Amino acid sequence: MITLNTPISQITPIGKTIAPKLKKLGVNTAQDLLFYFPFRWEDWSKIKSISALEPETNATIKGQIELIQNKRSKWKKRLITEAIIADKNDHIKAIWFHQPYLIQNIKPGDHIFLSGKVTLKPDGLQFVHPNYEKISNYKNHTTHTARIVPIYPLTKNLTEKQIRFVISKIIFLTNKITEWLPENIIQTNKLLKLGLALKQIHFPDNNQLLNQARNRLKFNELFLIQLHSAIAKQELKQAQSNKINFNQKQTKKFVDSLPFKLTDSQKISSWEIIQDLGKKTPMNRLLEGDVGSGKTIVACLGILNTALNKFQTAYMAPTEILAEQHFNNISQLFKNYPLTMALVTRSNKKTTDKKIKNIHKSIQTGKIDLIIGTQALIQDKITFNRLGLVIIDEQHRFGVSQRKKLKQKGIESKTNVNKNHIPHFLSMTATPIPRSLALTAYGDLDLSIINQMPLGRKKIITEIVPPESRPDKYKFILNQIKTGQQAFIICPLIDPSDKLGVKAVKDEYEKLNQKIFPDINIGLMHGRLKPTEKEKTMRDFIENKTKILVSTPVIEVGIDVPNATIIIIESAERFGLAQLHQFRGRVGRSEQQSYCFLFTESTTEPTIKRLQALKQCSNGFELAEKDLEFRGPGEIYGIKQSGYKDQLKIAKLTDYLIIKQTKNAAQSLIAVDYKLSSYPSILSKLKQFEQNIHLE
Ligand code: ADP
Ligand code: MG
Repeated sequence: MITLNTPISQITPIGKTIAPKLKKLGVNTAQDLLFYFPFRWEDWSKIKSISALEPETNATIKGQIELIQNKRSKWKKRLITEAIIADKNDHIKAIWFHQPYLIQNIKPGDHIFLSGKVTLKPDGLQFVHPNYEKISNYKNHTTHTARIVPIYPLTKNLTEKQIRFVISKIIFLTNKITEWLPENIIQTNKLLKLGLALKQIHFPDNNQLLNQARNRLKFNELFLIQLHSAIAKQELKQAQSNKINFNQKQTKKFVDSLPFKLTDSQKISSWEIIQDLGKKTPMNRLLEGDVGSGKTIVACLGILNTALNKFQTAYMAPTEILAEQHFNNISQLFKNYPLTMALVTRSNKKTTDKKIKNIHKSIQTGKIDLIIGTQALIQDKITFNRLGLVIIDEQHRFGVSQRKKLKQKGIESKTNVNKNHIPHFLSMTATPIPRSLALTAYGDLDLSIINQMPLGRKKIITEIVPPESRPDKYKFILNQIKTGQQAFIICPLIDPSDKLGVKAVKDEYEKLNQKIFPDINIGLMHGRLKPTEKEKTMRDFIENKTKILVSTPVIEVGIDVPNATIIIIESAERFGLAQLHQFRGRVGRSEQQSYCFLFTESTTEPTIKRLQALKQCSNGFELAEKDLEFRGPGEIYGIKQSGYKDQLKIAKLTDYLIIKQTKNAAQSLIAVDYKLSSYPSILSKLKQFEQNIHLE
């Protein structure tokens, strides 16, 4: 007997054939297969009479085979199977290629359904390569024709027909699926029961039921995300942090000492952060702001207040170079303040062991207020004295395990009065994620957005450059370099055998080095370099030893080379707007006029439209919204790394309505029972879900 746990190999002989292929997709049992969703559906449900068929349309007919035979085609001697099918009033020809065995399957006299494209040929209308299904095989329903037909994602040597056939054999098991959502949630949100939804997602009776099925299954996925976030948020509310009191006088003094005025966005974000810090529950906030929007200052106001309250701040950057940059910039900002700082990176070659020991000791005794470094900060044997605030740059997500480690650090803090307190958290990112998306992807974080650039920034001149203008641009770059500027050149991929014909970075490097700029020092950066090589390449560029840096998209977000004023993006059409905008942010960091050249060979309208949008718009959030329109959420830079990608098999981060529903449902559930003790079935689903999230 077939049950939900039956391995696919034991479901009909075809099951045996396709089991190894499905296994690669993580689909092993009948139950797994029920959760292997189609990614689209074709509506072949309307049955037409043959006399009503029209050329160049898709149609389904029901008829009887009058004749079927194999032939060689006149032209290319292809093997074709030809059949004549008749209904009450008319008849039509159907042909198939390379399926000689068809004549064993369907014989004259058989009643069949045909679904496919009708084409006009010199001898009349014809079905070309239609799907067919014998009526005798299916008493109540069809599988491949004459219905809304599911289309599944496939792998090599797996066909739609095979997978559909096996699913049709187990679809009755949807009756055995246990519902895990409580009745009130189902009712409030007008959801289908899970079993019915599964049945309808594979073999929908009509479009309305298909829609309802999709909504229910999307609800499942998004509800778990929302629940996960809601619980994380709730737990954080139960946790305790050290209160960082707002020192208005000193803060004002610091702000007044700056050579510029804060933008309104900066003021609002700073205030949100300062208020959070003043609470006894931990802050968990994401500060989003375009490259150059001035996030560092906002962070510094937090650092200043933390230090004034005699607590320490740990500031983490994803790479050593970035950590170093922050260290230098922030030292500058605090140059008139008695704030002590240390830079902690693993390979700081200039520092001796003894010095490192001393630094560690000063951190431990609380002499140091601000410790800047890489993730090594929380992994190494560093003991903080009183860690009050953790700032994370360009790492939107911070894993549960790292958070635990930090909590541990808090506990281990030498003189920490309150042992169980965890530090306040501030993440910062220059990836502009629309608020609506961020609410799902980062639902457990509070959000502050800097949506405004400091006044007086020069707009980066952006140009779309067709192949014929390339030489001009190279000349232009050469001139700029001669006056002391530097340039980035971004190429999409690194493998020269790259079949897509994309400019490979190594080839490009050779070409530039030998032919185009033979007298100029050029650096090459790509993901396959060793970390020390990357470090050196980057450093050479920062120190102006190389004038041009050719790089794959690995080039770091946040890297600051004010002297670089030109960026070329090769095959620009291959990147999303948000990512192009990120690249563009590498330049325009000084008083000098900067340029972004989008090299493309594409002249198609959608591409040009997209690149035009970049040219016209310099606001990252607006571009991200546009990207959403042009390419959908999966493509947006940043969302892919949100950690939930694998959880979303059917739902999208833009299913706003369901996101809202699930958010409400999760919140009301948590409000009454945040440990889910009365909802064991939800709890176990959530556990499963949490095991599968891959947060950074
Ligand atoms: P990001 O948000 O990319 O981290 P930074 O904090 O590095 O941006 O700021 C970029 C530059 O802008 C820095 O040189 C900083 O001093 C300057 N800056 C920040 N805020 C303002 C402001 N309100 N007006 C003028 N310049 C500012
Ligand atoms: Mg920054």
